[in-house]
Amino acid sequence: MEVNGTMLWYYNVCKREVWLMSRAIVPDQHDENVEIGRFIHERTYKRNDKEISFGNVKFDVIFRSKNQITIGETKKTSKYAEASKWQLMYYLNQLKEAGIEAKGILLYPEEKKRTEVNLTDESRECLQKMCLDIERICELKRPPSAEKIRFCRKCAYREYCYS
Ligand code: SF4
Repeated sequence: MEVNGTMLWYYNVCKREVWLMSRAIVPDQHDENVEIGRFIHERTYKRNDKEISFGNVKFDVIFRSKNQITIGETKKTSKYAEASKWQLMYYLNQLKEAGIEAKGILLYPEEKKRTEVNLTDESRECLQKMCLDIERICELKRPPSAEKIRFCRKCAYREYCYS
């Protein structure tokens, strides 16, 4: 399975989720958190109507000034800020590899908050390691075991892990 930005997000929340996703085990689509996330994605910032696709990547929003491209990723909550940061880093890196220098902004409309994300050489190195580890996890015959973490409570896979 090809590594993508969503996998980077899962990887930084729970390694078991990466494996479940790689096997196309879909989380509970009626889970409250999945539904709210979908609603925000569909409604917020749509007034800009600037979603674009780039390879296998879709960016929520783009701000463009004279000599700077800024891509945005809309999130429901900043509780997963670290995971969201790496997801956006992955997109920035994809653009960089295509010769496009860009900055990123994480948008949290419900919290009226935004955070800048910048790609550095160091973060590119980390990304590379994460991508290799994601590939390793995807090749495992069994998922990494479920470990109770603070994200389990709101995870749409919790039925699968703990029922
Ligand atoms: S319920 Fe917990 S262990 Fe299971 S996939 Fe979600 S975060 Fe990972």
